Amino acid sequence: MTDTSNNLEILKQYKQALLKGLNDRQLEAVEALTGSTLVIAGAGSGKTAVLTRRVAYLISKGQTPGEILCLTFTNKAAREMNERVRDLLQSIKIQLPYVPPWKEDYLTNPLLATFHSLGVRILREFGEKINLRPEFSILDLDDQKKIIRRIFKELNVDKKKIQPNLVSYFISQCKQELLESKDSRRVSKDFLPIFHQIYQKYEAILQESSIVDFDDLLLKPYLLLKANPGVLEILRNRWPHIMIDEFQDTNEAQIELIKLLQPYDLLRKDPQRSLFVVGDDAQSIYGFRGSKIEIILNFEEQYPGTEEIILNQNYRSTQKILDLAEQVLTHNPKQKKKALFTENETAVDVHYYTARNDKDEAEFVIRTMAQLYCMPEEAEESSGSEDDIHLDSSDAQAAPTPQRSVSNDPVSSMFDLYLDDESFSPSASLQNYQPTSWSIPANIDWGKVKELDSTAVLYRTHSQSRAIEEAFLQNRVPYKLVSGTRFLDRKEIKDVMSMLKFLANGNDKVALRRFLPLVLTGVGPKTLDKIMAYLDDYEYPLPPKHQEQLLHLINKLQTVWTEHTRLIDLTKDLLVASGYARYLKGEYPNKDEYEARMENIGEIFSLMFPFDQDDQIPLAERLNQFLAQVALMTSQELNEGDDKTPKISIMSLHQSKGLEFETVFLVGIEDGLLPHINSLIEPGGVEEEVRLAYVGVTRAKKHLYLTSADSRITFGQIKANPISRIFRPFLDTYVKRTK
Ligand code: ATP
Ligand code: MG
Repeated sequence: MTDTSNNLEILKQYKQALLKGLNDRQLEAVEALTGSTLVIAGAGSGKTAVLTRRVAYLISKGQTPGEILCLTFTNKAAREMNERVRDLLQSIKIQLPYVPPWKEDYLTNPLLATFHSLGVRILREFGEKINLRPEFSILDLDDQKKIIRRIFKELNVDKKKIQPNLVSYFISQCKQELLESKDSRRVSKDFLPIFHQIYQKYEAILQESSIVDFDDLLLKPYLLLKANPGVLEILRNRWPHIMIDEFQDTNEAQIELIKLLQPYDLLRKDPQRSLFVVGDDAQSIYGFRGSKIEIILNFEEQYPGTEEIILNQNYRSTQKILDLAEQVLTHNPKQKKKALFTENETAVDVHYYTARNDKDEAEFVIRTMAQLYCMPEEAEESSGSEDDIHLDSSDAQAAPTPQRSVSNDPVSSMFDLYLDDESFSPSASLQNYQPTSWSIPANIDWGKVKELDSTAVLYRTHSQSRAIEEAFLQNRVPYKLVSGTRFLDRKEIKDVMSMLKFLANGNDKVALRRFLPLVLTGVGPKTLDKIMAYLDDYEYPLPPKHQEQLLHLINKLQTVWTEHTRLIDLTKDLLVASGYARYLKGEYPNKDEYEARMENIGEIFSLMFPFDQDDQIPLAERLNQFLAQVALMTSQELNEGDDKTPKISIMSLHQSKGLEFETVFLVGIEDGLLPHINSLIEPGGVEEEVRLAYVGVTRAKKHLYLTSADSRITFGQIKANPISRIFRPFLDTYVKRTK
């Protein structure tokens, strides 16, 4: 054989190896190497897989790796894709050199990154064109607030009239719509002129200190490229091939940036270029952060002649899971029809369990895992029957079903805490509550159950994680909470705990230092030092107005302390009397943010709940016990470390996007949770919740369990939500009820 035919033979083998196993449509997608292509397809149909193969395929065909830009939604996804591409290429003996993530190498490696990290790169390289020094820093939210406060002082803005957070919200809105401060009047007529003035000052300060904020990472590259044709040309030449995953969650700024980097005219003229986007309109779940589903649905208008490829074979889930997913989507008739099918086994049912309460719901997860992973034969044989469950009958009988009548109206009940300060009232509804107690098989060494790594509990709101975490801690089930911050690390939780700690131990100055500046007006770091000095020595010359404020606060705290015997009542009263509730409202004028904070604080009450059951214990002892337990909980979590022990993942539905697990527990399928309470009153809100439910269902490969609870403790009160309207119509036909 000649050399040339030898080479051709090798290339053919490589191609076969790279395209092996793809179905016809996936193949069509991977081989669509020029022009614009939209792969719109249901969950688990291999969109991300196609994207990865396409990167490798382009490189195998001789494309310079650096000429490929592939944008993903999270850093984690970018890292994973990088690994997959490397592995694929390695299989055909192409070794990409290792390049550290910070290195600007636009030759030897494809750039697999998020939009924001692409923004950072563009600004580092060309920022000087818009007077941004290359060593610019990125502002964090706390510092942003401080800058806005400084401007308030300078412009004599009354903080009581305009909340600093409303200003940051305004600035962020403007930037997301690509409006600089000079154009900000176009954003909405609702904002006072002072907002625009503040935005201008804010920009000046950022500019002066070479700082950009998060939204700037999209806005500034856009402005830079618009104003600098030379730079635009460099970047257009650098990345003739652009690919985007999770395209359904693209926002305005992102698509505008793409239109600059890969304009339609150029794409049409030059067959060496391509724009390849993949997404599922049914999984668009970031509307609240500005993502626009219309961008994927109207893609063809921006890029006429786009080749649209629909993948319809699902490789992830069983047919039963897919059938349920399809039913869920029937709520949204506008969603593009995709009719997924699978060749995966169908024998396993989807299960639904009605828990008595949130504790029982969490324990159901553990019991089911015990059956599935530790006595699998039994689970296969009697899956879903009553006998499966190790019911300790004496306990079960002793536990009355909690009353459902506490509140059947999720809207009004969940907003209890958000009403005016005066509405914080002790709850009378908790007294008769007894948690159920079902036996969970003991003696399981969960640390050795490797299936935990491919199991997830998915929830709608972070506050649901508390009951799950507690059950896992109690039963020694290793878990990882995939969340921005852990429950007890959240600022508002720490704030409230600091007040409680001070009540429990009047010498705790660390706690005092934390909350004093929050609840006293006009106490900055300097005054705080003075107050602390005064508390050490009453001779210290603290200005009388601060003395008065301090005395007033301490009197209030003392009154609160003497007036209550139960922790929940004490804490509710404390939030109001200390002024913390007012402070929080001021900090988060954005209703959603404020509510999320309040929802978290409400979870403290749920933790306190068991401590309030015994009327005999004096309050001080009760509080100390509670604080000790919480401290233990934190340290236990801290000790979790970075070991290789298998762990079940607990995460929100939003965080589960793009992931897959053998077993998924989708907990809290209740009206008020999923669909979330806020979505019920927002236009298009429930539709987004339906998509979120669809995302949740389609994360499961084999086992899917849906659960709801007859009652759950929310904000320290028992709440009873109806079963989710999203799932209710299908529970008897597509799901097997488990008792
Ligand atoms: P999502 O919408 O959830 O992001 P997706 O469409 O991106 O899903 P992938 O994650 O790419 O789907 O693929 C789902 C699963 O199917 C993965 O485990 C993947 O490896 C597998 N898969 C995809 N295509 C094939 C194929 N042709 N043969 C075998 N397995 C495949
Ligand atoms: Mg994907």
